[in-house]
Amino acid sequence: MSRETGRESARNTAHERDRLRVENLTTRFFTEEGQVNAVESVSFDVREDEILGIVGESGSGKSVTALSAIDLIESPGRVTGGEVWLREPDLAEEFRDRTPDAVDGDFVDLRQLPKGVRRSLRGPKFSMIFQDPMSSFNPSLTVGEQIAEAVEVQRRASANPRSTRSRTQGYGLGKLIVDTLVPGREYTSDASRERAIELLEQVGIPDPVERADEYPHQFSGGMLQRAMVAQALAGEPDVLFADEPTTALDVTIQAQILDLLRDIQQDRGMSVVLITHDLGVIARMCDRVGVMYAGEVVERGSLEDVFEQPTHPYTQGLLGSIPDVEDPAARLQPIEGNVPNLVDSEMPDRCYFADRCPKAMEACLERPHERPVDGDPDHTARCVLADGEYDPATALEDGYFEETADATDGAADRGDAATDGGAGDD
Ligand code: SF4
Repeated sequence: MSRETGRESARNTAHERDRLRVENLTTRFFTEEGQVNAVESVSFDVREDEILGIVGESGSGKSVTALSAIDLIESPGRVTGGEVWLREPDLAEEFRDRTPDAVDGDFVDLRQLPKGVRRSLRGPKFSMIFQDPMSSFNPSLTVGEQIAEAVEVQRRASANPRSTRSRTQGYGLGKLIVDTLVPGREYTSDASRERAIELLEQVGIPDPVERADEYPHQFSGGMLQRAMVAQALAGEPDVLFADEPTTALDVTIQAQILDLLRDIQQDRGMSVVLITHDLGVIARMCDRVGVMYAGEVVERGSLEDVFEQPTHPYTQGLLGSIPDVEDPAARLQPIEGNVPNLVDSEMPDRCYFADRCPKAMEACLERPHERPVDGDPDHTARCVLADGEYDPATALEDGYFEETADATDGAADRGDAATDGGAGDD
């Protein structure tokens, strides 16, 4: 009989706590400029009662990954591959015989479920705090009405007689019919308005009864961000995606919103996926981290692993560009170069970071796959350095990629000229 090592045991326990598993998620945008590979085979898992951070520069695919996972990608974008497994035992039971490929134990693959079922999970199972609250709220409705609407959507979804929530929340089909059909009833019910006020109170809005009747422009940025947290919590989600929830706020309000998010996450045992470009926010909030670059997760692991043993040179570069509080005069080390253009025809068939990487070697001219760092499957990097040493003898010289690009352009120009000449010969 094989014996479980301490590390294996910890890993198995961790996977028992998985609430969401995203596997090889791939999203394309079909634009006039060509196909844009916004999300490239991204995998991560989110456990019960934890905050997973996703960090990277603008344009690295963080937000599109979140939108893809919760089925909010709109045309011209499309999720073209991958699986999004949500732990949902009732649904797993319901679909086990009907769609066996969509069920794995207690998990269901959202991408294989009917669209109506997927939509009904938005709110009670997962929800999202968007980047910019001012553009996310409707300026012509009061904040209270908009939160009450989110509550109402959840109540009506719960009124499905098959829903266990309808029984536990005391909101049944009869009440749904009354609220929907009786003349004079608006879309929102008294109960949902009361719940909206409760939520505003929970997120620390003073005078919530009065503030519920105010419009978004009457709220400060910080207050509106709190209101957005309240709206996202209306369905009591198991998994909350928070996309740059504090970007536009000053540091004091930012700290308050982050504390609020963590308190709510701990109180409710929620799983949170926190998307940010700010490593300080990650360090303050997260249990585990995924680092994204050019649509890929290039490194992931526990906060400790990624911060103390960063393996991918992009992660090292991000960490090197944080100001040192103990030595404020120290020069920051920027990552040279730019994020690549994600248009498919321009994506190189090599490590996407190679032209910015100070450790690029000949081995990097092939696309690296995700590898465990020092054999640890819970800390991985999409980099040859995860299981190999930097070899200066095979290092690519400075300017290697510019020269390669020039040579390719020159060859293409000569090819065009030859083609043009051939046409003229006709
Ligand atoms: S695979 Fe090579 S080029 Fe890419 S990040 Fe790792 S060392 Fe740098």
